[in-house]
Amino acid sequence: MIGLLGLGTASLGLLAWAQASAPPAPASAGAAAPGANDTGTLFNGYRVSPPYRDRVAARPNQLWPAAKDVPEPPLKPPSSPLKTVRVFYSDPLPKSSAFRDGGSLHAILLANLLGQYDNVKVIRAPISQYKSGDAKNSLRTFYIGTVYDEKIPAEFMNEVKAGAPVTWMGYNIWKLGDITALGLQYKSLHTALTPGQIAGAYSAVTYKGRVYNKYPARQEISEVHADPAKTQTLAVARSAVGDGIPYLVRSKNFYFVADNPFLYIQPTGRYLVMADSLKTMLGDSGTATCKKRAILRLEDLTSLRGPQGLKDTLDVIEKLKVPFAMTVIPESYYGGVSYPWKGNIQSLQQVYRAVKLGGVVIQHGTTHNYHGLRDPEGNSAEEWEFWDKEDNKSLDKLGPASTQARIRQGRATLLSLGLRPRLWTTPHYEAATELYPAINAVYPRVIERRMYAADGVRGGQFFPYPVRDVYGTLVLPEDLGNIQKGYLSDSLLDAAEANSVLDCAYASFFVHPYLLESGHVGPDKLSKASLTALITGIQAQGYTFVDPLDITTRTLK
Ligand SMILES: [Zn+2]
Repeated sequence: MIGLLGLGTASLGLLAWAQASAPPAPASAGAAAPGANDTGTLFNGYRVSPPYRDRVAARPNQLWPAAKDVPEPPLKPPSSPLKTVRVFYSDPLPKSSAFRDGGSLHAILLANLLGQYDNVKVIRAPISQYKSGDAKNSLRTFYIGTVYDEKIPAEFMNEVKAGAPVTWMGYNIWKLGDITALGLQYKSLHTALTPGQIAGAYSAVTYKGRVYNKYPARQEISEVHADPAKTQTLAVARSAVGDGIPYLVRSKNFYFVADNPFLYIQPTGRYLVMADSLKTMLGDSGTATCKKRAILRLEDLTSLRGPQGLKDTLDVIEKLKVPFAMTVIPESYYGGVSYPWKGNIQSLQQVYRAVKLGGVVIQHGTTHNYHGLRDPEGNSAEEWEFWDKEDNKSLDKLGPASTQARIRQGRATLLSLGLRPRLWTTPHYEAATELYPAINAVYPRVIERRMYAADGVRGGQFFPYPVRDVYGTLVLPEDLGNIQKGYLSDSLLDAAEANSVLDCAYASFFVHPYLLESGHVGPDKLSKASLTALITGIQAQGYTFVDPLDITTRTLK
């Protein structure tokens, strides 16, 4: 299961991954939006079923010999000379301010997306630290304006006007004054603060012939006039009544993005427009040969479950012959009692079958609950493990060293069963940010969404392509989410389609095999037929399922 942060929580269900977003800074209207970090009650209603009653203990000859502990190889160093890209963000508001603008966090999210290239070096700094020549001498420089009307160094503005390769996002384009030489002219700032204003706000972005949504929240967007003779409007922001203003405009080396696209991230949202456009902004000309790739992941394999759901899932995979991966919980607890895999040979045999079918084993936490970390510990597959969700803080008993030891213990358990995990997925996609380097020490490659924090703002991010993130980890994309109540196959296919027009597109998702269990009831119930329809539906959009171990970042030529 996955976690979700941010305002999108309540209305969008478990899947949509809106980040814990900071509100807009005070605008011309002078109104500061309240804090928006609502982590919600996502998993309060989720409970695992009692342990499978007909489980049978394994005989020694039914177990595979222990797998050798071959450490995961570190990521390869960059294959060609590094290219420098700079990301400047608004200077954080004083600590005494009533809210945080989130600019330094959003710079991290942008740096992560730029991590799609193994040879791009990203330097982040607040805009006050701008040095003359920074923009002129870098492959590209980004400015994320999240503080209204802040002071911008004159050297930076002069270089922008002189044609330096710069991308300007959010506030303060008006500080540049006369930019008619760029074919642009600032017109106004549109502010939506009341429900009525939000309903009429620019709530969608059209790009490459498709509509990307924008989460309905307090927002501001800058309108510019773009001279068609000197500029190309690559994306248009549209209101409910169809009124459109330039959202993403290019004028030679200069790009303007009308708002901060890292505010409220959604699987079909305008964040994808930004993520995709980075390739063009950095002059990546090698995307024409990309094939569209899909990743299938089975989630939460636990010794608490019976074998039938997984068996039916594997029947589908075997028939369709698609590569896949699966997250396995090494040590499961229910009601404080341990249920080892060796005590449930029926389900373990299905895991062995999955490996024989080519399934990549992913370590999914060690216990996927708070065992030994807090009381009550909850049940495996149900609770967080590396973040105290109940109190929304780091777990007192988990530091980097104890986290690494815990991960290694779970890894040893899987190895003892003959299973060699190659990747990692954090339970509920959520860990304290100081623990990610510890994960990285054991698993340099992961498949998940992740948490980042800066300047008092914590938020999650999903990736529409593989990146090396700021923790130094290769993060394989998971951009579609999973089938759950309120987010069924149609939504997943819709998210796949939202990605399908992007360059080098990925459609990565996961399903819980228990949804195929005969005893499972609910709108999220899956059958062999509906799972087949989902997988073939993704293929019908032009995606090819691939082995996640074959995926890596790009090199910018
Ligand atoms: Zn899980």
